[in-house]
Amino acid sequence: SSGISSFKTAAKKSTTQATLSSYSNNGKKNVVILGSGWGGISFLQHIDESKYNVTLISPRPHFLFTPLLPSTPVGTVDEKSIIEPVVNFAVKKTKGNVSYYEAQATKINHLDNTVTIKSFSHVNPFGDSKNPESIKKNDSADIKYDYLISAVGAEPNTFGIPGVQEHGMFLKEIEHSPKIRKQFIENIERANLLPKGDPERKRLLTLVVVGGGPTGVETAGELQDYVDQDLKKYLPSIAEEVQIHLIEALPVILNMFESKLTSYAQKVLEQTSIKLHLKTAVSEVKEKHLIAKTKISDTETKTEEIPYGTLIWATGNKPRSIVTDLIKEIPEQQGSRRGLLVDEHLKVKGLNNVYAIGDNAVAGLAPTAQVAHQEAEYLTKVFNKNQVGSAKPFKYLHYGALAYLGAEKAIANITYGKRQLYTGGGLITFYIWRVLYLSMIISWRSRFKVMSDWFKLALFKRDFFK
Ligand code: FAD
Ligand code: NAD
Repeated sequence: SSGISSFKTAAKKSTTQATLSSYSNNGKKNVVILGSGWGGISFLQHIDESKYNVTLISPRPHFLFTPLLPSTPVGTVDEKSIIEPVVNFAVKKTKGNVSYYEAQATKINHLDNTVTIKSFSHVNPFGDSKNPESIKKNDSADIKYDYLISAVGAEPNTFGIPGVQEHGMFLKEIEHSPKIRKQFIENIERANLLPKGDPERKRLLTLVVVGGGPTGVETAGELQDYVDQDLKKYLPSIAEEVQIHLIEALPVILNMFESKLTSYAQKVLEQTSIKLHLKTAVSEVKEKHLIAKTKISDTETKTEEIPYGTLIWATGNKPRSIVTDLIKEIPEQQGSRRGLLVDEHLKVKGLNNVYAIGDNAVAGLAPTAQVAHQEAEYLTKVFNKNQVGSAKPFKYLHYGALAYLGAEKAIANITYGKRQLYTGGGLITFYIWRVLYLSMIISWRSRFKVMSDWFKLALFKRDFFK
């Protein structure tokens, strides 16, 4: 029956381990997708489910629109506005069998064509009560695939720097956002009880963002917006003491933009009173301060202790363990430390029926949403036309890059492949940024909610509650 998931237990290995061959004997191949991010959900949206049995496995039961994640800790945009339940995408696939496991894939068994999954509940979007779940929460099972699409993304990289994991906060998933907000609010409350000039008050009101890539810059800009536009009205004396530091190891921030735009971005950040530390690498993090080393010349570095109340760590990503484990099993064809090497058809090198898209794949492209989305679109076209093995190679079309800087200013370099369409920075670019981000949102519900959040912001202050 259309759309209804009906898994059958093929071979029970033990009470907790079952091998599930999805949709047995309906003559269609089983495509298993790992991940509910830009790659996985874009693949799910575009795959023709009348031709394949489709199973999506992800521990995260929602898609996250990452481009607006830096806007959520301070409440410029509400967290719920930028997530969309996986089920909302699955219910639209009415022409065939589509199923979702809220589970983590722990191992790709490429010799058996199975994926081991753990800790999950089988979610049937149609609530099929006649098919009791064949496996229970916290069990593990092996899911059989004919084709596997790995889109598990990547995880924040601490580079093994001591103290980051214990004291730093990331901004990669939606649950990170309220944690940052809560810590900042608690620090404001505690600082407000201390007298002016108390060093502890100063520490509590210091926020450090490490990493001058787009995540770090946009997050610092949003935090400063909250301080300048809202906190100043509630607690002016606290607001004027808040100091945001942005620390970047390279000599420039946002190094994927041309130098004219990065200089403009630096100027805007400094005007909004963010303290920029360039050529400065954080080497250790303690509970209340961190150690930063600034390169003064080829032979000289200056070491500084920076006390902080809130630390946001945004120094980029590294592959997940499911990916590094697979790489170790096929060392001759793999070997990159950045992820799974794929050929021009996005097939994992060394394997016949495993494909990788998005941040877990190394195709020579930046780990961005636009790359993941285009790779998913390409691969579904190949699958839908039954051209697996004979299709034209994947070709990426670069549409440029945008970044929000705070103070209603953004920078943009909009392209169509190699053709430059627009380069600029400032208020007009900020409105272009808003329009383009709205157009990139992949559901109407989410688009509507983000528009309402921006409209609300024009009338009221941000929702900045614990
Ligand atoms: P993700 O979107 O990260 O999805 C990975 C999925 O895999 C998740 O659902 C996760 O739960 C799931 N998963 C993890 N482990 C497992 C497992 N073991 N088994 C099964 N599933 C698993 N890019 C842009 O182009 N423009 C932007 O403006 C932009 N802004 C960004 C802002 C922020 C704050 C961040 C963090 C990133 C931003 N990016 C942007 C980058 C972009 O988000 C990523 O490149 C994109 O998300 C990659 O898509 P993906 O599907 O590979 O990974
Ligand atoms: P990134 O890798 O782009 O930037 C991380 C930065 O941290 C680098 O500039 C690096 O030099 C710096 N760094 C590393 N270790 C450091 C240390 N110890 N001390 C100080 N600085 C250190 O990471 P990101 O910003 O999270 O972006 C990840 C990916 O997502 C990129 O591909 C990016 O393009 C994409 N993204 C895009 C947007 C956008 O288009 N607006 C927004 C966010 C993320």
